[in-house]
Amino acid sequence: MTKPLVAGNWKLNGTHAGIADLVQEIIRRVGDIRGTDVMVCPPFVYLDQVAGLLAGTPILLGAQNLAVQTSGAFTGEVSGLMLRDVGCSQVIVGHSERRALFGETDAVVAAKFVAALEQGLAPVLCVGETLGERESGATMGVIARQVRAVVDAAGIAAFAEAAVAYEPVWAIGTGRTATPEQAQEVHAHIRSLLSAADAKIASDLRILYGGSVKGANAADLFAMNDIDGGLIGGASLDAADFAAICAAAAGN
Ligand code: PEP
Repeated sequence: MTKPLVAGNWKLNGTHAGIADLVQEIIRRVGDIRGTDVMVCPPFVYLDQVAGLLAGTPILLGAQNLAVQTSGAFTGEVSGLMLRDVGCSQVIVGHSERRALFGETDAVVAAKFVAALEQGLAPVLCVGETLGERESGATMGVIARQVRAVVDAAGIAAFAEAAVAYEPVWAIGTGRTATPEQAQEVHAHIRSLLSAADAKIASDLRILYGGSVKGANAADLFAMNDIDGGLIGGASLDAADFAAICAAAAGN
């Protein structure tokens, strides 16, 4: 059975002092948890600080985004090389906020996925449909398009190093969670898309669910066959709620 992963995406939140408190509280609550991997993804400027605080713990450090480029005249960008240098092992790519607010197309997301792997970072590829797409019955087609763009660019073997997060856009930060059955249906679809190319890679792949996961609904979601953990936004800023989600993933 695949070990779950619970990843906290802190988005554009935090201060030096607030992040120190949050990390210390997360370490206190889940620093020795078994049965799930745990990761936090702070804003770029706090990665170094968090790397220091996490040293000696099994909690993983990830970034929320990366540049396609490695170095050079790209003002304001942060490369995978830099993320590795400050201690990240993973990076989120294609979050729906990057796609919708910053114009990241399937092609850009695929290029970022490849750039992450080239720098030794494990990408967490986010996919998900909007409410309009769900209501018009387009969900499975949208997910297939988003996944295939990355398989075409990176190859199926790349998914041995990656995770996928299914995040319905209508469930992110809205308090409206997909039902476990709705999420399971899409997770199974993602696995079967990849399975057609490589059954072993598909069955070993961690497919996380994201979208208003809380301590109160996590266990029902994680009980589904193809849900291997969560990508957590708002609730990951609350150490107690985040720890409850981790405990649900670990089966505690
Ligand atoms: C996210 O941004 O990845 C997310 C899932 O957010 P939230 O948990 O707040 O819906």
